[in-house]
Amino acid sequence: MEFDVDLIADDAIGSEPLRLDEQVVPDLEPPTDPDARGAGVPAHLSPSSASMFQQCPRKWKHRYLDRLPDPPGEPALAGTFAHRVLELLLQRPAGDRTIGNAKLIAREIWPETEADPEFTALGLDEDAERAFRWRAWQAIEGLWRIEDPTDVVVDATEQDVQVTVGGVPFRGIIDRVDVEADGLVIADYTSGRAPSARFADARLAQVLLYAAALAELRGRRPVRARLLYLNQRIIEVSVTEENLGQVVATLQETWEQLLRSCADESFAARTGPLCAWCPFVAHCPEGQAEVEQRHLAGRVRQDAPALTVMALAG
Ligand code: SF4
Repeated sequence: MEFDVDLIADDAIGSEPLRLDEQVVPDLEPPTDPDARGAGVPAHLSPSSASMFQQCPRKWKHRYLDRLPDPPGEPALAGTFAHRVLELLLQRPAGDRTIGNAKLIAREIWPETEADPEFTALGLDEDAERAFRWRAWQAIEGLWRIEDPTDVVVDATEQDVQVTVGGVPFRGIIDRVDVEADGLVIADYTSGRAPSARFADARLAQVLLYAAALAELRGRRPVRARLLYLNQRIIEVSVTEENLGQVVATLQETWEQLLRSCADESFAARTGPLCAWCPFVAHCPEGQAEVEQRHLAGRVRQDAPALTVMALAG
């Protein structure tokens, strides 16, 4: 089927956000990688793996050491597609970054997504596939609601950064490095709801880590780091020695805890509301107990995947 957004009815639109922010950073190198520091120890730490370890070490173990299946799901795949279209669009000369060209790119690369085994595994019927394409297109078009891409001076897209940051082997892929009058700017596409001012700092920590890594790689500190909430707004932070120092200190702390966990083969199960959405709940007795307790108290959303896994749905 062709990627034709003009033929997609508005009533096919779903409200589930895309997950542009979770699918673009590659995983850690396999634990058996020849560069690895030892059996069961990752070669690199990426922002997404660091964040997962902070949220729950057991989840991190299942994902990165045990490599249990974690299918990306529809929002993540739609996000991957939207992300690829924007990447190719921003690689074009500034004047060519039009909505029309974004549609052409989307049509051109749609067959790749359509043939992707992870996409076919979703088993979408025709209506669901149209809704998928429409959601992806909404994210793509959402770029024009927050910036004019013809004004952006792009230094790099998909900048793969593998450096040591504060003694920690780091790897990340930066969506975009822009050039502005006063220096380089880190820009990362993301989705979900843009945070309130109270939670903005936590969300900006990842792009600050990218700034720290790029500073190592290029030998000069970017001036700003920003998150582009497609369809909503941009949040950004000026990069300073102080805020870089804070995120690097947190990265070091996470890395040290992770190495200790690997050495002890002890990965704490940090239970909480996210257990109901954890893809590894079937392997985690502590998580199951948490979900059961919350379910009995009426504190789990009916669409939480763990309810189906644990036969509690309905
Ligand atoms: S179910 Fe909860 S405690 Fe268990 S691995 Fe997942 S997030 Fe961690």
